[in-house]
Amino acid sequence: MVLVVGGGASGLMAACSAALALGGEIAVLEKNDRVGKKLLATGNGRCNLTNLGASPSCYHGKSPEFAFQALKMFGPKETLDYFHSIGLVTREEEDGRIYPRCGQASAVLDVLRNELSRKGARILVGEAKSLRVRGGRFSVLTDNGQHWADKVIIATGGKASSALGSDGSGYPLLQSLGHEILPAYPALAPIETTSAHAKALSGLRVKGTASIERGGKTVSSRAGEILFASGRLSGIAIMDLAIYARELPCDVCIDLMPEMSESEVANFLIDRAAQLSDLLAEQFFIGCFQRMLGQVIIKSAGVEASMPVSQLSRNHMEALARQIKRLRFPVLSVAGFKSAQATLGGAATSGFCPDTCESLSVKGLFAAGEVLDICGDCGGFNLQWAWSSGWVAGRAAAKDVLQNRK
Ligand SMILES: Cc1cc2nc3c(=O)[nH]c(=O)nc-3n(C[C@H](O)[C@H](O)[C@H](O)COP(=O)(O)OP(=O)(O)OC[C@H]3O[C@@H](n4cnc5c(N)ncnc54)[C@H](O)[C@@H]3O)c2cc1C
Repeated sequence: MVLVVGGGASGLMAACSAALALGGEIAVLEKNDRVGKKLLATGNGRCNLTNLGASPSCYHGKSPEFAFQALKMFGPKETLDYFHSIGLVTREEEDGRIYPRCGQASAVLDVLRNELSRKGARILVGEAKSLRVRGGRFSVLTDNGQHWADKVIIATGGKASSALGSDGSGYPLLQSLGHEILPAYPALAPIETTSAHAKALSGLRVKGTASIERGGKTVSSRAGEILFASGRLSGIAIMDLAIYARELPCDVCIDLMPEMSESEVANFLIDRAAQLSDLLAEQFFIGCFQRMLGQVIIKSAGVEASMPVSQLSRNHMEALARQIKRLRFPVLSVAGFKSAQATLGGAATSGFCPDTCESLSVKGLFAAGEVLDICGDCGGFNLQWAWSSGWVAGRAAAKDVLQNRK
């Protein structure tokens, strides 16, 4: 009997994979009243279930290379083959992102649940409170009673969006059996800023390149969508950078015209000024940037809004170009777990075998998904890790059960 603790993406995939060999000898223990609550919220309810570009460089953690083996064995292609085989029809969108064709995350959950029910796997409701090894078997204690299993797969997720179930309660289970738990931080989270400009720009969405700069050096950069809200920045480019913004002081710098160098932007502005010389500075960016963004650029460059464009000097143009290339938002903090989509940190991967996700110290104990210290970028990479690790853990657990019978 294999007991999967946690009925999220990785737990359901682990159960499906183990059920291929063991059929009904699988149970999933889930603390919520239903499995897959977080899956339903993924991709804004559309579930970006994988990314065809998933590669090692999309993953972070103390030892991100731990993820490579599972991704090699069960990567995006194998994942899609499997989902197609259980009835899901998918579609590819921008940047290799894969979604269910019907546009509903519930389709992904439903095919997994159907498959488990076809194979006779059981879903148990209850929160695992403790995990013990007794005579080579595992005992998992919940409020409703005790469950015994030959193999246990801990798939309890991290701490992100705890309202959906994963609140870090899996960490003490692994820790109680000797596993090291690294500090957990919110990842794929909005970044809070002290800049008043974020409030002025609230509600705007731009495409550009965002960078984290610390001590005059660029720590990391991401191209993509940036969203402004009162006191915070979000959007894919920002969320990916959250893991680099923990150490203060640092700034988010936004390049609003990444396709041009700073001097090209200055020349572009000089040409533009020649065409629009009868306007005032506050009107100069109308038609080029959103109105509020234009005003923030002018203000940050120290240009008087009422100044005629015809009087803007080369120095003014260079100052404006500098702001367009490096609009600066000092970081106050990274938003907390409540608004994070993933967790950096958790169970140290050094305690597990990368081929099977089995514990190196406790035979028969496995871990999968976000409970492990592996965190992917935005774009389907986290779910891919959940599928990959869940698959290899489930398969290895089932293989062990069968081997022990011989
Ligand atoms: C809003 C949001 C949107 C996202 N969108 C995407 C996306 O589009 N693409 C993408 O790749 N990633 C996305 N992610 C990230 C992705 O959802 C997670 O990385 C992934 O779900 C992790 O899977 P998991 O199985 O490890 O953990 P989870 O999905 O968190 O599942 C863990 C499960 O274990 C249960 N559990 C926890 N503790 C216990 C316990 N002690 N006993 C019993 N059960 C327990 C929880 O209730 C939960 O059901 C998103 C995350 C959020 C929050």
